[in-house]
Amino acid sequence: MSDGSLLCMLHLLPATRTRDRPDSELTQRQTSILKASPEAIHEAALALRRGGLVAFPTETVYGLGADATNDAAVAAIFAAKNRPQFNPLIVHFADADSAAAAVAFDGRARRLADAFWPGPLTLVLPRRAANGISLLVSAGLETVAVRVPGQPVARALLADAGLPIAAPSANRSFSVSPTTASHVAADLDGRIDLILDDGPCRLGLESTVVDLSTETPTLLRLGGLPVEDIEAVIGTLAAPTGSAPKSPGMLSRHYAPGRPLRLNATAAGPDEALLGFGPQATGATLNLSPRGSLEEAAANFFAMMRELDRGDFAAIAVSPIPQTGLGRAINDRLTRAATPPEEGSLAGATAP
Ligand code: AMP
Ligand code: MG
Repeated sequence: MSDGSLLCMLHLLPATRTRDRPDSELTQRQTSILKASPEAIHEAALALRRGGLVAFPTETVYGLGADATNDAAVAAIFAAKNRPQFNPLIVHFADADSAAAAVAFDGRARRLADAFWPGPLTLVLPRRAANGISLLVSAGLETVAVRVPGQPVARALLADAGLPIAAPSANRSFSVSPTTASHVAADLDGRIDLILDDGPCRLGLESTVVDLSTETPTLLRLGGLPVEDIEAVIGTLAAPTGSAPKSPGMLSRHYAPGRPLRLNATAAGPDEALLGFGPQATGATLNLSPRGSLEEAAANFFAMMRELDRGDFAAIAVSPIPQTGLGRAINDRLTRAATPPEEGSLAGATAP
C-alpha cells in the first residue's frame, strides 16, 4: 500500500457464518476500504494489474472486479464469492471501442451502445477469437457479456487500469447485491484486497441484460434500463425460451465437449486423454493443478477442456475432483458436460 494516510482500514468483527462451507483454500486477504479519491483509484488499478480483487461502485451495484484477461484472478472472484457454479461474468470496458475489440458488434449492438453506453445495459455478444478474455469469464460459452458503466469512479478505474474488468456483484452467493461499501465489507472482508467507497449506488439494481448472439434479441435479465427504452431502438425483445431466464445452467449444455467424458477416472483408457488433478495424477495428459489447488484448477478448467477436446482422443477421462470450495463448481460443470443433452435436466440449474 503506497500511502498509509489514504487508508481508512476497516476491520470488521471476525465473521462467524453458519452458512459457510469449509473453504480452507481461500487466501485470507487484508481488505482496505478507501474513499474513492484519485490516489485510491490508482492504487486499485495497480491491485487489479497485479491480479488482485477490487470491489468498486457502478451505477447499478458494487462489482467485485478482477483483470478479465487473467484466469487466476477470475478464479479468485468465484472463490471469494463462494459460488457453487461458474456463472458467466459481465466484463466492463472503458468505452464501446474497447468492448468491440473483444466481441463481435453488429448493427443492433452498435445502435444500443450509441444510445445507452455508458449505462446500465449489458450486451451478450459472440466472443472474438484470441481476444485475451479468460475463458472462465464466459463459463465456457462462445459469448461474452459486455458493459460500459457510467459511474465516474468505475470509469476512472477502467481508464487507469487499462484492462477489461470482469465483475459480478460484490456479494457472497445467496446474499443480496451490495449497494454500499459497507454491504460489500459485510460479505467480503478478508476475502478481497480493496473496496473503493463512493457512497450508495445510483440505481441499486443490476444492469439489464440483452442477448444479441442470436437472430432475435432476447431479454435475459430485467434491470436498471427499462425494456421499453431498448425496444424503442432495436424493436421487440424476445422473452427467454423456457420458463426460467436463460440461466447459466441452461447455457452450460452448449459448452459440453464433443468427446464423451468419463468422470472419477484414476487412469486413462485406450484412446482416452486424462485430465488430471493433484500430484497422484502422474499419467495425466494435462493436469488441472499438479499441486492439488482447486483455485488453480478452476483457472485452468475451461482452457484445458478445450485443448483436450481438440486433441486426437476418442474420449476424455477426468480425475476425481474434491467436492469442496471451487471443486463443487468444477464438478457441477463436469457432471452437466458428461450428461447427454436429452438427459440434461434444468432442475437446480438456476444461478444464486
Ligand atoms: P452478476 O453475476 O450479478 O453480474 O450477473 C451476471 C448476469 O449476466 C447473469 O444473469 C448471467 O447469467 C449473465 N451473463 C453473463 N455472461 C453471460 C453470457 N455470456 N451469456 C449469457 N448470460 C450471461
Ligand atoms: Mg449477483
